Amino acid sequence: MLNINETQFNDNFYRYKMHPLKITICSRFNRTQLENIDQIAKNLERNPKTILKYISGKLGVKATTDKLKRTFISGTSYTNEELQQVVYNFINQQILCKSCFNPETEEKDKLVLYCRACGEKSEIKK
Ligand SMILES: [Zn+2]
Repeated sequence: MLNINETQFNDNFYRYKMHPLKITICSRFNRTQLENIDQIAKNLERNPKTILKYISGKLGVKATTDKLKRTFISGTSYTNEELQQVVYNFINQQILCKSCFNPETEEKDKLVLYCRACGEKSEIKK
């Protein structure tokens, strides 16, 4: 498991964890499967669609879900590390409290981040 706050990477006792992103490149269909985006969404307590929208907007790629509920982005040129970094960018912008950096936050009205740990309300920059 990875620490949700990437700056806590060397702290084994940091208690907020998430699954590392797993991808499979399907060069035949020119797309990349994001295998566990639902699991990560659960770890982050967000809707998987919110994360996908962020990833596709950030990279300028199309995100799709097929009949078997598998999630893909168009293109095959991204590495696991690059996509993991995009997930971290999402976390830094939309998950971590701007005041105490705790990830126990809720999105209110799509623009405001409410922190359950310290009560801070901060603006989400999308
Ligand atoms: Zn806070």
